[in-house]
Amino acid sequence: MAASLRLRGAASGLRYWSRRQHPAAASLAAVCSRSMASKTPVGFIGLGNMGNPMAKNLMKHGYPLIIYDVFPDACKEFQDAGEQVVSSPADVAEKADRIITMLPTSINAIEAYSGANGILKKVKKGSLLIDSSTIDPAVSKELAKEVEKMGAVFMDAPVSGGVGAARSGNLTFMVGGVEDEFAAAQELLGCMGSNVVYCGAIGTGQAAKICNNMLLAISMIGTAEAMNLGIRLGLDPKLLAKILNMSSGRCWSSDSYNPVPGVMDGVPSANNYQGGFGATLMAKDLGLAQDSATSTKSPILLGSQAHQIYRMMCAKGYSKKDFSSVFQFLREEESF
Ligand code: NAD
Repeated sequence: MAASLRLRGAASGLRYWSRRQHPAAASLAAVCSRSMASKTPVGFIGLGNMGNPMAKNLMKHGYPLIIYDVFPDACKEFQDAGEQVVSSPADVAEKADRIITMLPTSINAIEAYSGANGILKKVKKGSLLIDSSTIDPAVSKELAKEVEKMGAVFMDAPVSGGVGAARSGNLTFMVGGVEDEFAAAQELLGCMGSNVVYCGAIGTGQAAKICNNMLLAISMIGTAEAMNLGIRLGLDPKLLAKILNMSSGRCWSSDSYNPVPGVMDGVPSANNYQGGFGATLMAKDLGLAQDSATSTKSPILLGSQAHQIYRMMCAKGYSKKDFSSVFQFLREEESF
């Protein structure tokens, strides 16, 4: 591993230098770097709803894993499968020169990177650290600076697609960071996703993710409102969904993730809103959109409304339900 680490670091330097001076040498170095570095252990921190299936897809592609989660039960399956479980993010960094983090919030990411036993305590020069959590782009930029001081590379690579796509390896990754390192990130991310998109400088992956989720929240609330109104006007929910999906109101929330129980199979609304993408995480993402809108002086009138609606849902007992439960929330609010 040490040899491949040195090679990765050296190759990165060559690539950076060569980009300006000798492009052919750059691509050769990139190929050598990828092939030599492949199948060395990959660190994975945060084995929750998303991290668990993502890490399993890396295993399927033959990568040995170094695992850590604050919740020890989350690691058990991996330990049973023969993967190495360690007791802190710092220990992960000591044993792996490529690490993926998949954590709930900005605070958790700061703890995992900069905490007392964080990655930065033992990170090796030339390491590649990929954060796939959805967090504040400003925090991604700060973490990138700290990582860079240690001679390593940080990229933000949040995902879209949910637990189903994480299981099937069909996530979309939105990647921000130094472009020269994108190929190295793609090698790992391609094992877990079918789309890996380079967005630009550090933080732009998070920016794309935040915009997508704000639109998703707005369209889900809109779908739930339209379905609820139609049902109260006497329409059959399945028929209404069919009409919407052949008309101009059609969207992902209406045709692939309909929030009304009984309209579709295999979605959280068919299972008492269990699994899927929790209302708490949606409220968190809308909070990030709100902060970003304030810092960029952007009007997000509907995004702000959506934020308040999801916050209220969390306060009223919906925090553990899928975000499509906004339909149930509206049903219960007769005089809303
Ligand atoms: P989760 O809560 O199910 O899992 C997070 C895991 O991180 C947990 O096992 C937790 O114990 C662990 N953890 C928390 N703090 C830690 C720390 N400091 N060190 C190590 N482990 C720690 O969350 P999730 O649903 O897997 O989501 C993870 C991220 O992906 C979030 O930012 C979320 O917004 C984003 N996301 C989720 C979905 C989805 O459908 N669930 C879809 C797209 C993006």
